[in-house]
Amino acid sequence: MPRIFSGIQPSGELHIGNYLGAVRNWVQLQHEIESFICIVDYHAITIPYEPGELRRRTYEMGLSLMAAGLDPAKCTIFVQSRVPEHTELAWIFNTITPLGELERQTQFKDKASRQESVAAGLLNYPVLQAADILLYKADTVPVGEDQVQHLELSREIARRWNARFGEGFFPEPQARLTPTRRILGLDGQAKMSKSLGNTVGLLEPPDEIWKKLRPAVTDPARVRREDPGTPEICNIYHLHKAFSPATTVEHVAVQCRTAGWGCIDCKKVLFESMNAELTPIRTRAAALISHPARVTEALDAGAAHASLIAKQTMADVRQRMGLT
Ligand code: SF4
Repeated sequence: MPRIFSGIQPSGELHIGNYLGAVRNWVQLQHEIESFICIVDYHAITIPYEPGELRRRTYEMGLSLMAAGLDPAKCTIFVQSRVPEHTELAWIFNTITPLGELERQTQFKDKASRQESVAAGLLNYPVLQAADILLYKADTVPVGEDQVQHLELSREIARRWNARFGEGFFPEPQARLTPTRRILGLDGQAKMSKSLGNTVGLLEPPDEIWKKLRPAVTDPARVRREDPGTPEICNIYHLHKAFSPATTVEHVAVQCRTAGWGCIDCKKVLFESMNAELTPIRTRAAALISHPARVTEALDAGAAHASLIAKQTMADVRQRMGLT
């Protein structure tokens, strides 16, 4: 049976970059394919953190995912550390993964270059990712383009393990590219990221969103109201493509190219489109905030279901590897 696995860092409340780049797609997929959505707290501890903060952010991510539309009755939402088999399988995969392949991973080189002392966990991060996916024998992984290299490593690890211990045991997971292209932050410079302070929170109140949207960077060539613009190079246009109906997107492009309206007019229309999608999400979040046990109970049930499969996989793995 087809099955997807996706992980998300416990970064607290979702922002619209996470939502458009991954979560909205998962909400759709939960109706089509058996889905495991994991809040990856073991991954989060590969960089310095504060324990109380991690716990709070993990809970908030669970709440955000449910508010965004993931339904615990349709998919399995759980926290990674509640299923310790993830780390057991990661250790096993560490024993068959060449060091050179890990050192070549672009994300490792990028993160390591920004740290004085690099923990081994940061290097082995993609091995844990492989374990996350293969523990559930997931054959499909929804990914953004920047994750394709890690997924290729997961496929390689599955091939190596299968060659030694059991042909066909682990599937080679296939990438399913997320339809929405990468959304830049409101600075128009870099990927939307909390650490860069260029995000819009998924649950932010409308007036706060407008405060951020109003000064957001647009086509730099549109200096004056009468200057025509180029929508394709404007992040606001790409946000329209994510939130506005197709007819509105066409209208935006025409109005931009002909200087038919100014950027504030354009942003007001985007604000309306965003509100139409985000209002039900905020409503669901408010209901969950009033009943926090619904989130913890959903995460408990998700961990229990994930554990059943994880334990079975590990029993088979140990048996095939001579680990008694
Ligand atoms: S009119 Fe809209 S799409 Fe064109 S530059 Fe301004 S904000 Fe961007």
